[in-house]
Amino acid sequence: MAKILLSTATVHGDELAFVKEAFDKNWIAPLGFNCDNFEKELADYLSQGETYALSLCSGTSALHLAVKLAGVKRGDIVLCSDMTFAATVNPVSYEGGVQVFVDSERETWNMSPEALEKAFQKYPEAKVVVLVHLYGTPAKMDEIVAVCERHGATLIEDAAESLSATYKGKQTGTFGKYSIVSFNGNKIITTSGGGMLLCKDKASRDKAFFWATQAREKAPWYQHEEIGYNYRMSNVVAGIGRGQLMHLDEHRDRKEKIYRRYEAAFKGLPVSMNPYLPDTKPNFWLSCLLIDKDCKVSPMTVLDKLAENGVEGRPIWKPMSMQPVFKGHDFVKVEEEAVDADIFARGLCLPSDIKMTEEEQDYVISIVKSCF
Ligand SMILES: *Cc1c(COP(=O)(O)O)cnc(C)c1O
Repeated sequence: MAKILLSTATVHGDELAFVKEAFDKNWIAPLGFNCDNFEKELADYLSQGETYALSLCSGTSALHLAVKLAGVKRGDIVLCSDMTFAATVNPVSYEGGVQVFVDSERETWNMSPEALEKAFQKYPEAKVVVLVHLYGTPAKMDEIVAVCERHGATLIEDAAESLSATYKGKQTGTFGKYSIVSFNGNKIITTSGGGMLLCKDKASRDKAFFWATQAREKAPWYQHEEIGYNYRMSNVVAGIGRGQLMHLDEHRDRKEKIYRRYEAAFKGLPVSMNPYLPDTKPNFWLSCLLIDKDCKVSPMTVLDKLAENGVEGRPIWKPMSMQPVFKGHDFVKVEEEAVDADIFARGLCLPSDIKMTEEEQDYVISIVKSCF
């Protein structure tokens, strides 16, 4: 059997029509009609056009511009999700901000609103929150938004993994004053690499565009009054994105089917699936397992067994508060034991590639079962 992978790109052919148009019009440079249309189409998908989207070369660059728009300056405290991919929080450092990490809750694995409140008690000067929806599962948005509003803080929403997931019918990526999505190769849809910044107002989008295009002032010559970046998305890449976007809901449905098959197959084992709230619809980007507390099997045992059999699994994202690079940064939790360290110690990600056949998934399931 071929190697079974965690999550890879799935292309359909519709992408090629848009890419071909870019070639036919000899417009393969950055910016251009595919970028404009991709932005419009994504904004419509998310919020019927109430979002101002900016296509960029990565989700990380989108997060960087979000942090700049939020006004983070050297020495500013920024309250961040602790259990996530480093790209969520690195851009805070680009601007000289200081991350304070906030523990997760057990119902969605995302930032705990109680821990966030506690972090604001400790750091009342904090003005920005960076929140992630891990593995495509929406966080407790009503509570998180309420805490942010109570403290007058700007919310940055990292929806890199959660595109198409909804919370009480509202798309993730539309809650933050600034939000981002990613089209990296392993995400639910991909452009091979790319991202989008999502703003609530046009002025912010325009300011981000200015920074993303080398901060060129309006003048007959090259005039610069601020430091800029080259963060643009190419018109070719945006064409891939437009074709992929046509298949986003289909990808989501296939991801959910994979999750449901794992869920049914593991009934009776001392494990549970990554949880979500009843009034949310995750995009099920990655199916994850949490091994029961009293069970002696470790995630590494399962991951090693999968690897021996040509199956790619992954540990849960190692919390940022446990990363050497963020040594000395504060971490705020409400329970005695850190919730996210516990999930990290007992969890793992299973192959969730939508091209995986039922037979292949059954094979993965049988290997997991053999570990218990
Ligand atoms: C992938 C990812 C990013 C970064 O996106 P890129 O497009 O790869 O730069 C940021 N945050 C999270 C949670 C991600 O999974």
